[in-house]
Amino acid sequence: MDLFEYQARDLFAKHDVPVLAGEVIDTPEAARAATERLGGKSVVKAQVKVGGRGKAGGVKLAATADEAVARATDILGMDIKGHTVHKVMIAETAPEILEEYYVSFLLDRANRTFLSIASVEGGMEIEEVAATRPDAVAKIAIDAIDGVDEAKAREIVEAAKFPAEVADRVVNVLVTLWDTFIKSDALLVEVNPLAKVASGDVIALDGKVSLDDNAEFRHDWDELHDKAAANPLEAAAKEKNLNYVKLDGEVGIIGNGAGLVMSTLDVVAYAGENHGGVKPANFLDIGGGASAQVMANGLEIILGDPDVKSVFVNVFGGITACDEVANGIVQALQLLEDRGENVSKPLVVRLDGNNAELGRQILTDANHPLVQRVDTMDGAADKAAELAHAAK
Ligand code: GDP
Ligand code: MN
Repeated sequence: MDLFEYQARDLFAKHDVPVLAGEVIDTPEAARAATERLGGKSVVKAQVKVGGRGKAGGVKLAATADEAVARATDILGMDIKGHTVHKVMIAETAPEILEEYYVSFLLDRANRTFLSIASVEGGMEIEEVAATRPDAVAKIAIDAIDGVDEAKAREIVEAAKFPAEVADRVVNVLVTLWDTFIKSDALLVEVNPLAKVASGDVIALDGKVSLDDNAEFRHDWDELHDKAAANPLEAAAKEKNLNYVKLDGEVGIIGNGAGLVMSTLDVVAYAGENHGGVKPANFLDIGGGASAQVMANGLEIILGDPDVKSVFVNVFGGITACDEVANGIVQALQLLEDRGENVSKPLVVRLDGNNAELGRQILTDANHPLVQRVDTMDGAADKAAELAHAAK
């Protein structure tokens, strides 16, 4: 889960990373009181989960509370790279900025370690610095057990050639930022710019944090979720512990195992090229134990998506054999019909693997008017695409 800047700011503050005061608002008028609380001037910053807000006009200084209201009026509702601004942060203005640096910690999957990236050329996108001035970017691997203590932080500061007069302060930022990274189970913590201001202080002026969703069970992250942006079907699926991602197409997909579902998406997209360009409508992995209940939950979510015109159930029987899955499908349809759900979209089912013959026989015997059996993956994908196209 990616955080908004104001959430990153709060998290940094909690772990003693030096930040400026700030509060988030969602109406222009609220900018007035917030700016008055900061002593009469502020920076108005668009809260969108995308970089380059400054360049896009989403970061503006306000010298008075009236100006803050005017700038908030401009920025709220603005579109920044496809993200609509629903909230702005009213932040304390930094004293004169003398230099802008970059520091971050992230999980380096390729090298199975953590990584620190630091540069004295901050302010702009680090990818750009890395492309144009690669020697200005220091990358230091961090041992997961040892972490970042003062000595390690000094190593980073030296590698990135921070000026001597800010070294101690940057070391402090790195140690507290590492603390934030580890204690929050983050995948990324980034400060850009880390600003050296006229007083000599070094302050995190902008933060980007990505938290590891797999660690959510040991945190209280309820408030961090962006409920406005959450897709209602995805939220409903999450509540039922289903692995579901909404996509743009018309063919609903249910499969068991992430690998199979991924390849099903490809096969359907390919088949769709012959059928008016229909595409997969979602990713749904019902996992290993595809009981009738799990199948019903999955079907309910997918049938509840108005974009879905046909459904492709692609199951490879393993520990849960195909006959159990077939019974699951038949019972799931019954369950939904009993519940009064409007089950009217065609289902193409392909069963293979353990007890495939038995499973297919169960579907044939059930003879459900909406269910068609196709025994090859390509054939079934083609049929599902054809049905979706016909219903469009
Ligand atoms: P980004 O463009 O999305 O990365 O947004 P930032 O928060 O990094 O802001 C962009 C730029 O605005 C920074 O690099 C700073 O130069 C400037 N900026 C941000 N906060 C302040 C502030 O409090 N005072 C001043 N003068 N400039 C600021
Ligand atoms: Mn920035």
